[in-house]
Amino acid sequence: MKKVIVLGSTGSIGRQTLEVAAHLPEEIHVTALVAGSNVELLAEQVRRFRPALVAVADKERWRELKELLSGEKVTIMAGEEGVLAATEAEGDLVLAAIVGIAGLKPVLAAVRRGKDVALANKEALVTAGHLVQAEARRRGVKIMPVDSEHSAIFQSLHAGRPAEIKRLLLTASGGPFRTWPKKALQRVTAKEALQHPNWRMGAKITVDSATLMNKGLEVIEARWLFDVELKKIEVLVHPESIVHSLVEFVDGAVVAQLGLPDMRLPIQYALTYPERLPAPWPRLDLTGRTLTFEAPDTDRFPCLALARAAAQKGGTYPTVLNGANEVAVEEFLKGRLSFLGIPALVEKVLAGHTPVPEPDLEAVLAADAWARSKARALIREGVVGA
Ligand code: NDP
Repeated sequence: MKKVIVLGSTGSIGRQTLEVAAHLPEEIHVTALVAGSNVELLAEQVRRFRPALVAVADKERWRELKELLSGEKVTIMAGEEGVLAATEAEGDLVLAAIVGIAGLKPVLAAVRRGKDVALANKEALVTAGHLVQAEARRRGVKIMPVDSEHSAIFQSLHAGRPAEIKRLLLTASGGPFRTWPKKALQRVTAKEALQHPNWRMGAKITVDSATLMNKGLEVIEARWLFDVELKKIEVLVHPESIVHSLVEFVDGAVVAQLGLPDMRLPIQYALTYPERLPAPWPRLDLTGRTLTFEAPDTDRFPCLALARAAAQKGGTYPTVLNGANEVAVEEFLKGRLSFLGIPALVEKVLAGHTPVPEPDLEAVLAADAWARSKARALIREGVVGA
């Protein structure tokens, strides 16, 4: 029986994690749940999974959560203190599925408390991969990938040794606008960007998939998860999302993991590793299927190149890329920034940044705050807009 703390339980990954927990009642016991503000769903989850502790980040909603849970035997907390306290609950593993850099402190707290982490929250590694991994090494904890591409690489890496890796090939669906001409991208609406062809995910990652920023963030995530040089990490567009990623070894062997686009599989693997357990979801049948692959187009989708360049420069650049992107996506979803304004804004913010090499947590958070305020100022001043 593994005791699991779920951060971001009301989100797309969080809800699917609880589905996995529900079908493995003998193997997984949920001990704490954390959400941002959706107290209605959080309360339902508490009644269903009976954790010892629940926390809502939005302090304003604490009273409501308390009322919804009156009579339940559960400690109810709120605010950042509450979220961090949840990482202290009894547990072997923390499933980290808060969206954005908001997940960084809880991930670091979990690692510092010696708990293994099943990581969906890629932004934590993008902004502070060096800190998270150094701490993980010091405490002897495992960071297990949940992202389907990284899970596929993790599974494929069992076929060889680290020194035998030639390349990691991250696959990308290409998003809903893969075949659109650049001119048409100018008029993309939030509604169109939220229609991902293969995956149902939270709004932020869905927009990131449409701009290919998601793949850029994943390149940086892979660099920290697998300790592989950036130049050995490549991206391959694969619109069918069946081959979840591949590893090429020095002898030319290419090993991949395939499956239907269903996050419950990588989530379950991260929760039950090193075991594989039977699962009830639909199976892949390759009969009659065509799998296609193409190179990414960084002219129409510049976010991928921006992310790679920020990663190459290192220091606080990836944090600034991420912070500017979080603001850009938010503004795009509110209709205040165009689709092509997303890379334009990120590029402008990066260009004005004075980096800090080897930043500690304080410097990472300061760079994030600077990037957000710079991005908002550029939109306010109309330098980049709708
Ligand atoms: P969602 O937007 O669906 O869910 C985000 C979760 O984080 C919600 O539970 C939300 O609570 C919670 N949250 C938001 N802000 C805070 C905060 N400040 N403190 C505590 N909790 C907070 O996102 P996804 O599930 O799609 O994605 C989560 C992470 O997983 C992202 O980093 C994403 O990149 C990654 N990921 C997602 C995949 C997917 O298929 N969805 C695939 C691979 C990676 P509330 O609902 O109450 O606001």
